[in-house]
Amino acid sequence: MGKIQQLKIKDTFTKQLPADPIETNQQRQVNEACFSYVDPTDPEKPTLVHVCAEMAEVLQIENTDSEQFLSLVSGQKNFEDMRPYAMCYGGHQFGSWAGQLGDGRAINIAEVETETGNWFLQLKGAGRTPYSRGADGLAVLRSSIREYLMSEAMFHLGVPSTRALSLSLTGEEVLRDVLYNGNADYEKGAVVCRMAPSFVRFGSFEIFAARKDHVNLKRLADYTITSNYPHLGEPCKAVYLQFFEEIATRSRKMVLDWQRIGFVHGVMNTDNMSILGLTIDYGPYGWLENYDPGWTPNTTDAQNKRYRFGNQPSVVLWNLTQLANSLYPLIEDIPALEAILDNYKTQYQKEYQTMMLAKMGVYNSQVDDANLIQQLTENLRASETDMTLFFRNLAKFNEDAPLDHLAVIKTDSYLAADDFENKAFQWKAWLNEYALRLKNEPTKAADRQTKMDAVNPKYVLRNYMAHLAIEAADQGDYSVLEELYQLLKQPYANQPNMEKWFAKRPNWANEKVGCSMLSCSS
Ligand code: AMP
Ligand code: MG
Repeated sequence: MGKIQQLKIKDTFTKQLPADPIETNQQRQVNEACFSYVDPTDPEKPTLVHVCAEMAEVLQIENTDSEQFLSLVSGQKNFEDMRPYAMCYGGHQFGSWAGQLGDGRAINIAEVETETGNWFLQLKGAGRTPYSRGADGLAVLRSSIREYLMSEAMFHLGVPSTRALSLSLTGEEVLRDVLYNGNADYEKGAVVCRMAPSFVRFGSFEIFAARKDHVNLKRLADYTITSNYPHLGEPCKAVYLQFFEEIATRSRKMVLDWQRIGFVHGVMNTDNMSILGLTIDYGPYGWLENYDPGWTPNTTDAQNKRYRFGNQPSVVLWNLTQLANSLYPLIEDIPALEAILDNYKTQYQKEYQTMMLAKMGVYNSQVDDANLIQQLTENLRASETDMTLFFRNLAKFNEDAPLDHLAVIKTDSYLAADDFENKAFQWKAWLNEYALRLKNEPTKAADRQTKMDAVNPKYVLRNYMAHLAIEAADQGDYSVLEELYQLLKQPYANQPNMEKWFAKRPNWANEKVGCSMLSCSS
């Protein structure tokens, strides 16, 4: 024990919300409680792999090389004032109510007061909890690197996200069947210490609503409003409605960002929807390389492709509808809730159009804009063009020689040269139309390029890149991890030494597990 230096430990969550009275670590249904006290499992021989200096600074931790820091972020020790706990929540998984889920492999170790508000520190992969439902509560290096790199990358891309403080190895081996095909293998166990101003999810409310526990539903809503939405004022019916409205707005903006950068979450179950509109739970996510709205990286969802790229905005709306149902007992106003959900649709459509035009450097909307966008996305899909490369290179388009740009698109397409030629006809029409459109824009070419570069990232974490970092790290070489970590801190900047990451997915990655397909196994 002992006090961890510097940290100002708080206990608003555990003080203000009901605890599970049982404190043994056994699988169970936990009623009338928001969390269960549970200690992390002591890792055998923890080692620190990476630390996010920025988040350490937020916490004002000066020495991240210390044994004390490693003990903290690997779950080795509890410190004074800290009582670790796992949160109780439910959720709709792939469209069906799944009942109680909860933190099966996540344990909150501390709530820390900082100059930027209170942050919760949560260990992912620190052992079993009452919510582990027969699973091991562990995480492997592969999935932990993916979460660690991606959550930080998202933040730097300007997308609301949970953050990561550290990545460590437990020194233990964990058995995983990556493709659920009976070929299980041992992988290195790892723990990510992630951070957020709240880890409350839509499912945290759904579980109380499903159990008709309106007393605790209200307590959780009141706590979340006073802690994370204090500007809304004293909780009352009108404030609960505003609370829902703001969650809807934040979630809409989050998914709009995903569509802007080509991110596919992969598992948008309601238990993976943050009450703060943060991107959370990085599992089998992926990036659109060849532009395909029907694509999902998640093999577990291969049949229905519910969580495919093009469906993400509708899924957020569906998830918000579940939250509206759960908050209904506090609001009791169906038309008002419906108005918010309807507004999501109209606002999203407007914002999507503005966002897509901004990606094209067009700022004054015209009547035929929807058409211009639709033709573009259809061409991108048909010609299997890389989304990131296309939009970044579009900033170099010369409106006086529109057809010259065809060569760039051809280079950025995954089609064979002959197949591309068959699609060139439609591209020519679009390029000519786009050139005319730009000529009507008051923005000068140089300004346009700067503005376009600010919304079209140059570097994203393609699955094959994460895979390279994982392969090296598995051999104890963290240089690729470090290189990508640094690269992704400035995704919109031109980084001359890093041009190799501004390229199409290499052929070797096309059908490789971990590069083109992923499962929920982590
Ligand atoms: P996810 O889809 O990763 O957000 O996980 C869905 C649910 O399964 C959550 O309740 C997780 O806590 C739980 N879960 C996933 N993997 C494990 C694991 N290895 N051990 C225990 N629970 C897990
Ligand atoms: Mg989850």
